[in-house]
Amino acid sequence: MDKTEVVFKACISKVKNHALKQQLESCEQEIIKDSKNFIRYAKRNMLHLIPEKSVVGNGVSKTEMEKVYTDRMAKKSAPGRAFYDKLITTPKNGICPLCGHRIVQTLDHHLPKAKHPSLVVSPINLIPACSDCNKIKLDKQPTSPEEEPLHPYFDDVENDRWLYAEVIQGNPISLRYHVKAPSQWDAVKAARVKNHFASLGLARLYSIQAATELADIKHRLNKLYHSSGPDAVRSHLLDSAESCEQQHLNYWKTAMYHALAQDTWYHNSGVNQ
Ligand SMILES: [Zn+2]
Repeated sequence: MDKTEVVFKACISKVKNHALKQQLESCEQEIIKDSKNFIRYAKRNMLHLIPEKSVVGNGVSKTEMEKVYTDRMAKKSAPGRAFYDKLITTPKNGICPLCGHRIVQTLDHHLPKAKHPSLVVSPINLIPACSDCNKIKLDKQPTSPEEEPLHPYFDDVENDRWLYAEVIQGNPISLRYHVKAPSQWDAVKAARVKNHFASLGLARLYSIQAATELADIKHRLNKLYHSSGPDAVRSHLLDSAESCEQQHLNYWKTAMYHALAQDTWYHNSGVNQ
């Protein structure tokens, strides 16, 4: 049986109202078909071409379909809750795959449930996310391939380095983050990563985290500078960058330590500020 079908059947298994149950059952084939379409379209960056809907099956409204997700899948002890729990626990260390930093607290509908009611419980449309990323995305509907948010199940952007930072001299020293797409990427992939980074406000999020990290390492690096000199500081920063890379290539800490290791001003005098 199709995965979406299994989840939908479980979600509506406890519906007592006979008429409503029949109505919801009339949605099954459409839900399975739309889920398969989603996979086909996602693989070709064509999700923005999936038309919005207001009813599913035999006249089931989007409000009713949203209730299937909210009351029959997401709610604790709901008949579909086991599938919700399985999806929400998939990310490594419970970290939101959208921002790569905050903790997962919900499932985000990649294509919004208010506009795509046939995909409300489709596992392929449900992405573990933190509350902030979920709120920022809300009901946004992409209108071009470039606007399509990254989909962690389909878009592999973690094998190439695209997150960079630069050291901003000042008091206190800060880090500014930006995206630099690898030259082998096509224009759409590059634009999507840049839009993802901008729309989720990741430059600000990472910069704030980096400010705390800079304050945390200040004393240690200052001691290292006075005992062993700037080359030792640089070498330590490079080691830290390589160590963070093992965790995540496009991790804000990885970009931060690379930026610090490459900034001559930082390991010669910034470290003493
Ligand atoms: Zn997030």
